[in-house]
Amino acid sequence: MSRLATTGEVLQLIRTGEAVTRADLGRVTGLSRPAVVHRVTELLQRGLVVEDAEGPSTGGRPPVRLRFNTAGGFVPVASLGASRTQIAVCDLSGAILDRTEVVIDVEEGPGVVLPLVMDTWDKLLYGRAPVVGVGLGVPATVEFAAGRTESARVMASWTGVEIPPLIAARFPVPVLVDNDVNVIAMGEHRAAYAAELGDLLFVKVSTRIGAGVISSGSILRGALGAAGEIGHIPVRDGGGVLCRCGNTDCVDSLASGTAILRDLRAKGRDVHTLADVTALVRAGDAETMAVVRQAGRHLGEVISGAVNLLNPAVVVLGGDVAEMFQPLVSGVREVVYRRSTQLATRTLRIERTRLGPAAGLTGSALLVTDHILSPEAI
Ligand SMILES: [Zn+2]
Repeated sequence: MSRLATTGEVLQLIRTGEAVTRADLGRVTGLSRPAVVHRVTELLQRGLVVEDAEGPSTGGRPPVRLRFNTAGGFVPVASLGASRTQIAVCDLSGAILDRTEVVIDVEEGPGVVLPLVMDTWDKLLYGRAPVVGVGLGVPATVEFAAGRTESARVMASWTGVEIPPLIAARFPVPVLVDNDVNVIAMGEHRAAYAAELGDLLFVKVSTRIGAGVISSGSILRGALGAAGEIGHIPVRDGGGVLCRCGNTDCVDSLASGTAILRDLRAKGRDVHTLADVTALVRAGDAETMAVVRQAGRHLGEVISGAVNLLNPAVVVLGGDVAEMFQPLVSGVREVVYRRSTQLATRTLRIERTRLGPAAGLTGSALLVTDHILSPEAI
């Protein structure tokens, strides 16, 4: 480092494990011994770093190792869904300490939903302090900088609402809000893939279809936060299905959980929920497998376009239909490997979610810790 490293940069080195003793920090940063001591003392006083007495013995007194204190603060998080909301308290590493689920219709609006979420945080925190920030994933397009919801389709009663001030009135800390699929992609990437690769496309297939893009380790949000909205990209040979957005043959209207249920019912199958479909897939029901595989082909068409555009190292499939991964992914693979460029697919992996439903909560916490622990913020 050519200029003097800041306290925030010193924390970054300790967090990532690049330098874990005062001597290492001096070597890596070029800071003088008193300057290192000064910055480390500040981090110790703020509770962000702790000392581990035990270091590897090299004969004589072992050097004191410094460790990022993941218990140095708490992050209340929530992942809002159409009919149920996951609520949790995480530590500074994004690990979930306590979680619960409440059943509430998100269309009740922010005036009902947010107070319930905040009451639940109080219970889960149970006096734990300090609260250093709050993170929220919502099933809508979010103008990230303002935390303002934009989409009118799922959370109609929330359109234009700036969520952070409503929460900060009771939790006066940084409040970060993002689209639910973005935070899931973030959680999935950091907790399961960060050590191996930086570019990941997460596709969530539930009642709706959405995607989150991790590019060089960061969420790609686009100009206004609408990047990754792949659900309303049309596919060929859809047969003219009218989508709720008003266009025809959007992949959402042909490959979502809703579409799979509709197509099976049209064949006279008695299925009411995605759990019913999952059970039929598990039982090896040929007709159900064929419908899910066809949904996978439609999905594969849109994913192949995204693969050509973004060249991700891995495509991760998650959401409520992740349980139907085998027939779904064979449809996706069939089309992606045929239609994407050779270079983009040479080492491409298509996998199922490793974290499952926890990804949205961990991702919301990481959104917060990345913000408050960044070298600029410290
Ligand atoms: Zn549409």
